[in-house]
Amino acid sequence: EELAALLLGRIRDVADYPKPGIVFKDITPLLADPVAFGALTEALAAFATEQGATKVVGLEARGFILAAPVAVRAGLGFVPVRKAGKLPGATLSQSYDLEYGSAEMEIHAEDLTAQDRVLVIDDVLATGGTAEASLRLISRSGATVAGLGVLMELSFLGGASRVRAALDGAPYQAL
Ligand code: 5GP
Repeated sequence: EELAALLLGRIRDVADYPKPGIVFKDITPLLADPVAFGALTEALAAFATEQGATKVVGLEARGFILAAPVAVRAGLGFVPVRKAGKLPGATLSQSYDLEYGSAEMEIHAEDLTAQDRVLVIDDVLATGGTAEASLRLISRSGATVAGLGVLMELSFLGGASRVRAALDGAPYQAL
């Protein structure tokens, strides 16, 4: 459809980045285009409103860039989920497996309450590990997951089925 074509047309394939054999989806051309960035922000803000979200969570680092304007547009607060060791206050943390080793995401425990409905936003869903860990953090905080929205899904990696359990019936949108 029209929005998907606009967005896809502003995402650049970079071969052999960050490693040989990987084709990296570079979103910087989209961010530099106010029409595409604006349309993306509007679509995700509409999703937040439809789902009755009270907070928008962005995943470090490119998720921050997308989620912050969505939060402002929808009139909601923004909450960062960060890689371990970056948040100064009391955190909840969730580790997850990578191809080699593991990683950990954290959230400030006090940023969400049991009354919150949280829309989680990131740029690209690949294996789904980052999003899955982040959704678990939201649930563990006592808040409700209102949905997961991403700009792009690398569907051949199967991330959508991986995040489904952590979504617990909440909607998932890949634009
Ligand atoms: P996953 O945990 O789903 O395997 O990886 C998703 C995370 O890695 C996201 O936070 C995303 O920003 C980043 N990522 C993985 N592959 C790409 C890619 O090709 N392009 C971009 N922009 N981010 C990627």
